[in-house]
Amino acid sequence: MNDSTPTQPEFHAAGVSIVGLRKSYGSNEVLKGIDLTVAPGEVVCLIGPSGSGKSTLLRCVNLLEQPNAGTIHVGGFEATDPDIELDKMRRNVGMVFQQFNLFPHLTVTQNCTVAPTKVLKRPSAEARATAQRHLANVGLADFGDRYPDQLSGGQQQRVAIARALSMEPQLMLFDEPTSALDPETVGEVLSIMRNLARAGMTMLVVTHEMAFAREVADRVVFMDGGVVVEEGTAAEVIGNPQQPRTQDFLKRVL
Ligand code: ADP
Ligand code: MG
Repeated sequence: MNDSTPTQPEFHAAGVSIVGLRKSYGSNEVLKGIDLTVAPGEVVCLIGPSGSGKSTLLRCVNLLEQPNAGTIHVGGFEATDPDIELDKMRRNVGMVFQQFNLFPHLTVTQNCTVAPTKVLKRPSAEARATAQRHLANVGLADFGDRYPDQLSGGQQQRVAIARALSMEPQLMLFDEPTSALDPETVGEVLSIMRNLARAGMTMLVVTHEMAFAREVADRVVFMDGGVVVEEGTAAEVIGNPQQPRTQDFLKRVL
């Protein structure tokens, strides 16, 4: 993080280590040997053209997709161990999607308590208290009884973040979390993500928000065609890209 203010980490943040990751859909090899590490508490922004494999990479880390080769470690867990308990692994990894994916028939509070009570077996009073704390942190303390369709897109995405945090994950994955938002609500979601980064969460963020990446990312990784083409600080990768593919991409998005 570029911010120099010392902050006490609020999370038991885990690191991620990805080695030789390959993923194919039929004959279409989408990830062609990805090596990527994220240190505990580090924020890595993943950028690259549509179809380059960014979402697939995130989905492999969360085991929503089964890799064909390579290893992924998240904290003490080897995600790619065939004997892994999927639930145990997944509960350590929070994911926020472009489409907020809230449960439409549940209130904001219920969205945040359903997994902690069902998966973590937390008593409901405790789950509600945890949810309330995370909702307050995303500025939605008074919205617990609303339903998703009574909220703006930005508010729904903030609920999605609070919901993920209510599982007390050690790592947060964000897949273009602001791409579906109206321009006027993008800032409120980025601001929550900035706070989370400052609080010490490990974050792997797919984003087209170059200003956010410059400000918050410890490292930027540019992917194209299923490989990591270039990585470094935001100043290096966004400010002074070395590879022609990175230069072409940035010319189009900046
Ligand atoms: P990005 O997030 O960088 O836009 P994706 O990871 O979504 O890229 O997709 C990379 C490639 O994998 C694309 O060619 C896409 O069509 C293909 N792909 C992604 N998911 C699937 C799937 N479930 N089945 C078949 N092909 C897929
Ligand atoms: Mg994607």
